[in-house]
Amino acid sequence: DRKFPYKAYMTAIRLDGVSKVFDGEHLAVDELSLEIGDGEFMVLLGPSGCGKTTLLRMIAGLERVTSGEVWFGRTRGTDLAPRERGVAMVFQTGALYPNRTVQENIMFPLQIAGKDDAEAGSTAVGLAQILSIESVLDRMPWTLSGGQRQRVAIGRALVRRPKVFLLDEPLSNLDATMRTELRQEIGAMTRDLNVTTLYVTHDQVEALTLANRIAVMRDGRIEDVGTPTQVYNDPATAFVAGFLGTPRINLMSATVNVTAHHRVRLEFGSQSIGLDPTDRRSLILRHHHGAPVIVGARSNAFSLITTQDAPNQLTGTIRAFEFHGQQSIAFVQCGIEIVDPDRIGRPRPAHASPLAEPTPSLLGRFRRRIGLGAAP
Ligand code: ATP
Repeated sequence: DRKFPYKAYMTAIRLDGVSKVFDGEHLAVDELSLEIGDGEFMVLLGPSGCGKTTLLRMIAGLERVTSGEVWFGRTRGTDLAPRERGVAMVFQTGALYPNRTVQENIMFPLQIAGKDDAEAGSTAVGLAQILSIESVLDRMPWTLSGGQRQRVAIGRALVRRPKVFLLDEPLSNLDATMRTELRQEIGAMTRDLNVTTLYVTHDQVEALTLANRIAVMRDGRIEDVGTPTQVYNDPATAFVAGFLGTPRINLMSATVNVTAHHRVRLEFGSQSIGLDPTDRRSLILRHHHGAPVIVGARSNAFSLITTQDAPNQLTGTIRAFEFHGQQSIAFVQCGIEIVDPDRIGRPRPAHASPLAEPTPSLLGRFRRRIGLGAAP
């Protein structure tokens, strides 16, 4: 259910077992493989230090790969110089030429490419209109707001019509309103230009709203790739489940109890709930009496009730109640063991047997996991 949705010949970027080792010992990217389709908007999402920027820089040619291959379509790009790759990149703080006006900044890549000033100038003006910065074309970079600077940086990156557009947290230095506005514009522009885009962020709202597909990265590897709804509703691992969604998903330790009538109950210490017998997870779990599992449930799967004997009820004490405007969040202590997704499912050392220590799995992914008895 996570098949590459683009035809093979449409692949714009293919990473084939790409690794990056810094200083001979620090593994920043670990044999990572990923395909990004032609015209696709892929978001690379993950916590700080997981290797997102390093991966982007290897695609741009700013960092050499230690091993593995980078392909652009059918062209092997691993050893190409940055300017031979047809790639444009925008960083967290758009680095502009300080001594050039906005228009000159945007025109410059075209001039280097040999276009005459008139043509370069009119292309820059057209792009400035799309980016809503035509009123500042004659200004110098230091007079611009953060949002305007980023727009200029985006304009300068796109002016040569790159095949591949790489953005590294381009909105992280902007205030909330500007971030939303520019986010929408980036989405619209990349769609209009049909440019293949790889967008790095650790902001899940940016990921969910912009992406055709999201790749969730952790410790130099990809843990999950899929459309926003796939990754949100059917995450591959507990870490991915915990990374996406606010408030954070509840990940609860449980034990599978299969009753005499093949009904599956999930036991949380002294409390339990029954699964619908037709639920796909129920059909799998009924062969795994006694198995430890992690049950993932987002807060909107619960409702607060005051009756005593409703089916599938967990009993607890409200510890806090927060008003968030659109929603309110109740924090309820139910005496259930809560699992920290950052602490489980880290890649197992190569020598460990997958059956040595059966670690619980995320309920939603049992199809794949339980047959192995392995960690998520
Ligand atoms: P952030 O979201 O904080 O920018 P990231 O996911 O982009 O993080 P990277 O910047 O790619 O992560 O870094 C991945 C790992 O590689 C980190 O542990 C980092 O310290 C290390 N690293 C990155 N660049 C170098 C370098 N030039 N030399 C040594 N180590 C580096």
